[in-house]
Amino acid sequence: DRSNAALIEVNDLKKHFRRRGGNAVTAIDGIDISVMPGEFLVLLGPSGCGKTTLLRCLGGLEQPDEGRISLDGRLVFDSAHGVELPPERRHTSMLFQSYALWPHMTVFDNVAYPLRARHQKSSVIKERVGAVLASVQCEDLADQYPDDISGGQQQRIALARALVPANRVVLFDEPMSNVDAKVRSSLRQQLRGLQREVGFAAVYVTHDQAEALDLADRIAVLRDGSIEQIGSPREIYRRPRSAYVARFVGSVNELQGRVTAIDGTSIAVDTGMGVIHAEKREEQLNVGQNVLVMFRPEAAAISASERPEREQNSWSARVVDQVYQGSFVEATVQVNGVEVKVIDTDDRQSDLIGGLVHFHIDPAHVMLFAEAPESA
Ligand code: ATP
Repeated sequence: DRSNAALIEVNDLKKHFRRRGGNAVTAIDGIDISVMPGEFLVLLGPSGCGKTTLLRCLGGLEQPDEGRISLDGRLVFDSAHGVELPPERRHTSMLFQSYALWPHMTVFDNVAYPLRARHQKSSVIKERVGAVLASVQCEDLADQYPDDISGGQQQRIALARALVPANRVVLFDEPMSNVDAKVRSSLRQQLRGLQREVGFAAVYVTHDQAEALDLADRIAVLRDGSIEQIGSPREIYRRPRSAYVARFVGSVNELQGRVTAIDGTSIAVDTGMGVIHAEKREEQLNVGQNVLVMFRPEAAAISASERPEREQNSWSARVVDQVYQGSFVEATVQVNGVEVKVIDTDDRQSDLIGGLVHFHIDPAHVMLFAEAPESA
């Protein structure tokens, strides 16, 4: 049944580059992914982790050394059997950061181009281009030239041009990085809306974690050419598998510590701040082990009473900074000489800087990672 089959299937993909001087760089180090119809996969990671290379391998702009790629039910690359289809035979749309509309063509002709290249009838082209322009809210711009419209509008037109052939696989490489924040957010919404309508499978490269959380059904966090973790935005944010993932998505407080006690439900870790208790999860940790303790700013709270109650994970803290963010305040507090960030959702309408507060960390949201600090 085709509707249940992955539209993008990648198996054990590898790609090396030879640098000047002869050193080999491993850009893709054995990647497996599959993307379902209507699914939006975001490739996230720092510069150089291999996101763009992976996307270019999918589109046929880069030749992998090993592995297999199937797109929309067709084998387009297989190193073992010498299969390698050129980009134009992969039935795949690509949208890049530099979207380069043709300046001598009107908006209509730019968007119509992929259909004319396929020798579609002009009545079909007219209808289809009109519908796609309407879906990106640019139907009024059909007769304009690219130089006469705004950057955000140009990007909408480029999106329309990528989607007009109705390919079932669409690849994006940081397509929003040249437009301002407001346009970006409305483009994202349109993109997701169009995807729901058309049901294509999307792979979207970004290094912007907010964009990833906003767009993705699943996020693959890449590290040195491998997938460090793949999962829903919530899984990636709340259950990062490593300190690398925790640091890359969202902001996080981190302290070095040593496990001092483990019982059935909780793990006690001695840190520079004091003993922090974490709810016990599946990690295999031992007493005496060095761990990295991490918690998100919203996993902690402050209240304006000075006296710490005698309970776990509670301290007296001094407020050293407050940044008003509208729906919350991001406070920096000092606890036994250690500075941490905490989200304060209580709008007290008063400045706490310099004052003493009661600081608490929720043990259910303390993350422990058994990795040596220098390799983290
Ligand atoms: P960015 O966000 O900066 O684009 P990226 O995650 O997309 O980074 P890639 O561009 O895929 O990373 O690069 C992965 C690795 O492969 C890097 O070490 C890079 O230097 C190397 N690389 C990429 N393209 C080439 C090339 N044409 N020749 C040599 N090395 C390359």
